[in-house]
Amino acid sequence: MRAMYFEAFEATPDVRNLPDPTPTEGGVVIKVEATGLCRSDWHGWMGHDPDIRLPHVPGHELAGTVMAVGKGVRRFREGQRVTVPFVSGCGHCGECRSGNQQVCEEQFQPGFTHWGSFAEYVAIDYADQNLVHLPEAVDYATAASLGCRFATSFRAVVDQARVTGGEWVAVHGCGGVGLSAIMIAAALGANPVAIDISDEKLDFARKMGAVATINARNVADVADAVRDITGGGAHASVDALGSPVTCFNSIKNLRRRGRHVQVGLMLADHAAPQIPMAQVIGHELEIYGSHGMQAWRYDAMLAMIESGKLAPQNLIGRHISLDEAVPALMAMDKATDLGISVITRF
Ligand SMILES: [Zn+2]
Ligand SMILES: [Zn+2]
Repeated sequence: MRAMYFEAFEATPDVRNLPDPTPTEGGVVIKVEATGLCRSDWHGWMGHDPDIRLPHVPGHELAGTVMAVGKGVRRFREGQRVTVPFVSGCGHCGECRSGNQQVCEEQFQPGFTHWGSFAEYVAIDYADQNLVHLPEAVDYATAASLGCRFATSFRAVVDQARVTGGEWVAVHGCGGVGLSAIMIAAALGANPVAIDISDEKLDFARKMGAVATINARNVADVADAVRDITGGGAHASVDALGSPVTCFNSIKNLRRRGRHVQVGLMLADHAAPQIPMAQVIGHELEIYGSHGMQAWRYDAMLAMIESGKLAPQNLIGRHISLDEAVPALMAMDKATDLGISVITRF
C-alpha cells in the first residue's frame, strides 16, 4: 500500500510503499476512501504524543470500506461502509463497560498507538465495539471530517457542556473544532459567540451560525468583550484551539456556574496552563475535557446530519492527495486554511 511514513519526529515524511496490513482476530482492515488532516497529526509528527513509536504512519480521521475481517468479528463484513472514532475502546475495561469508551484504559488509536489512515489501507482493532455503519446519505469525505474534530465537538457541546436552547456559548478558536462547535451549538438553539484573530475565519464562523464575533486582536480583554455581548458571561465556553491564552479566557469569560470544555490539545510546554481557580471556586464553575466520542453516541450525531440540522460537509475546505498532505501536515501549526483538508486521493 502507499502510505505517508516517517522515521524521525520533525523530519519530512515521505510517501512510500509498505506491506498491506492484515486484521487481528477482533479487527478489520479498511480501504481508506477519505481521511482528514488535523492539528493532532501535527502534534504527533512533532513528537508531542508519547503514544507514538517510530517509524510511524499518521492519520486518525477516516472513513472507508471494510476489506478484510478477523475471525472473531461478528457485526461487520467485507464491503460495508464504515467510520470509526479516533479513540477505540477495548470493550472490556471498566470505562468501556460504563459506556465511556472515549477514555478506555487500553485504547486503540489509529495514527497514534498504531499506524493510521494516511495510507490506502488501515487496520482497526476492537472492530465490533467501535466501527460505525455509515448511512448512504453521508459521503466518505464528510464522514472522515467527523473523525475527531466534529465528533469531539459534539460530545463537548452536547454531552459535556450540556448546552440548551437560548444559552450563550463562547467558542475560542475557529479552526475545525471551533467551527464544528459553533454549528452544533447553533443547531441546539444556543447563541454561539466566535473568537479568533482572523477576520476571515470569523466571517466563516458567522456562516456556520455564530451570532456575534470577537477579533481578539481588536479588544483589550477578550473575557470582558464576551461578558459585554452575553450580558454577564457565557453559560458554556469551549477552548477549541488549545493554548494557555485561549484556555484562560474560556474560563474567565463564564458567568456564574458556567461550564468550560477544553477540546484543543494542551501538550508539551502547554500541558499545565494557568487557570483562574479563585473564580472557579467562587462562581462554582465546571471544567471538563472532551476526548473524542464513543461509537454508540454517533447515532445521535448522524441523525442530525441526515435530517440536515448539522452539515459538517460545509466545514470541508479542500480535497487533497496523499502527496499534497506532506507539506500540508508540516505547515499545520500555521495553517490559514478555511475549513478542513481531507485526503481523498491515494
Ligand atoms: Zn476499554
Ligand atoms: Zn483529529
